[in-house]
Amino acid sequence: MSTITGASLFGSQTLTGEGAAYTATAPARNESLPESFFNISPAQAEQVVQLASAAFGPYSQLHPHRRAEFLEAIADEIEALGDVLPERAHAESGLPMARLTGERGRTCGQLRMFARLVREGSWVDARINPALPDRQPLPRPDLRRMLVPLGPVVVFGASNFPLAFSVAGGDTASALAAGCPVIVKAHPAHPGTSELVGRAIQAAALKTEMPDGTFALVHADNAVAQALVGHPVVKAVGFTGSRAGGLALLRVAQARPEPIPVYAEMSSVNPTVILAGAMQERGTAIAEGLAGSITLGVGQFCTNPGLVFVTQTDKLNEFLGTLGAKIRATVPATMLNAGICDHYRTGLDTLSRSAEVEVLAESETDARSEATEGRPAVLTTTGAAFRSNPALSHEVFGPSSLVVVCQDEAEVAACLQTMEGQLTATLFAADSDLQTSAYNWVALLQQKAGRVLFGGYPTGVEVCEAMTHGGPFPATSDARTTSVGTAAIERFARPVTYQSFPNALLPLALQQENPLGIWREIDGVRGKE
Ligand code: NAP
Repeated sequence: MSTITGASLFGSQTLTGEGAAYTATAPARNESLPESFFNISPAQAEQVVQLASAAFGPYSQLHPHRRAEFLEAIADEIEALGDVLPERAHAESGLPMARLTGERGRTCGQLRMFARLVREGSWVDARINPALPDRQPLPRPDLRRMLVPLGPVVVFGASNFPLAFSVAGGDTASALAAGCPVIVKAHPAHPGTSELVGRAIQAAALKTEMPDGTFALVHADNAVAQALVGHPVVKAVGFTGSRAGGLALLRVAQARPEPIPVYAEMSSVNPTVILAGAMQERGTAIAEGLAGSITLGVGQFCTNPGLVFVTQTDKLNEFLGTLGAKIRATVPATMLNAGICDHYRTGLDTLSRSAEVEVLAESETDARSEATEGRPAVLTTTGAAFRSNPALSHEVFGPSSLVVVCQDEAEVAACLQTMEGQLTATLFAADSDLQTSAYNWVALLQQKAGRVLFGGYPTGVEVCEAMTHGGPFPATSDARTTSVGTAAIERFARPVTYQSFPNALLPLALQQENPLGIWREIDGVRGKE
């Protein structure tokens, strides 16, 4: 039975932080929970990175099947916590139990997906150009290339996914899968949940005999968290959360004598474009679907559709009427914490006071507590106002969306051009739109986003091989990457070419007889020979 002690986990050790204490808050009541959590001191931060540094060599050299066993054991240990885990996450986040149970399934599924990837082994992208000793005018040496782990990684989870984007979330799973030790900085909005999951990983590491220090969980204030990012031993950072937080860590990482990558997933407003033909054919159905997507999970998804572009058509009023009616009928609900609720209220207030912005509809039900419950809303503005005021495209994290009514397609395209990078962009188009439009909408949208949807709703991110949960800045700090799906592992690896090596000294993935049985490219031809 796991208990919550407020301590940090340094490999196999449990250490009480020597820094300030804090408590978690139950958002539903906006009251402190009883346990205290203790931040680590700078000296303890030094201790934890040295432990991770010592673990890196042996962990990175383990047979890939051993890493797969570790990841599977983590999933087993998390499941073995039973209801204690979703109940604690519910108390700390206010998210419904059903959602958290689903999120636990996603988290364990994700760990097992990375276990399969590592066990199969081909992700290392082995490429071999055998020696050509007789080549003229110069012989070619034997060259063999593969991906190897970067080194210790520091992970910062988000408040809105206390399981799937936190201690054992995608960043941790993909970094461990790649062969990197991980130090997680616990999110102060769900520290008890973090400790429960951290202890599950600790137990899994002990059971599968991982090198001590392969995993650590620390409670830390921002100064100490930044010191971890700045420490020479650390080689990469995974982050999900606010733009301000992600950028602060990026600055620290770039100011190091040896700059390191920070894979930060930050803000996104996820534009949806509804062309005239689609509006004509099924505007009402789209409005209903959108209302559901806007308010799902009290709008606390990074893929929430925060902006909707429409053109002036005779069906527009019907669309707005349906969307408004749906939003008015939705009830306010508890947000993740009072800070996020306050940001939402302030953001909405600022937006609604902007020139040429009108509130189309708000939930007709009063919040039981203004401090904790977010009230769904939809606002409207014009294309001209949108283009002249960049603030209208800023993320308002919560259950709201801004409908931008444009004169015509040209104005929609012009609005999209002004926008920053996004996680997703969605197109609703009828055949008639695609036949008559002067614009290549797919090209326009793919320039802006990591995932482009045709006729759907962006909330809901499948964990699979083909997923890209990323996008140009500020959706992420590196548009070449994804934080969800198997490709997330590539963020924590780098290529190495071994030249003229004796077979026995090569990593298994590159040895002549292909002992791991993985897919490799030999002189450009893919095979398992
Ligand atoms: P956050 O405030 O950025 O926090 C994420 C983690 O980073 C926390 O552990 C936080 O610790 C740490 N952190 C933040 N700033 C830091 C700094 N300057 N130095 C060191 N560590 C720092 O994100 P959040 O709590 O998940 O949500 C807050 C806001 O982020 C929301 O209102 C929303 O706007 C946005 N958000 C966006 C997404 C998205 O995917 N687009 C997802 C979730 C949230 P402390 O809390 O101790 O500072």
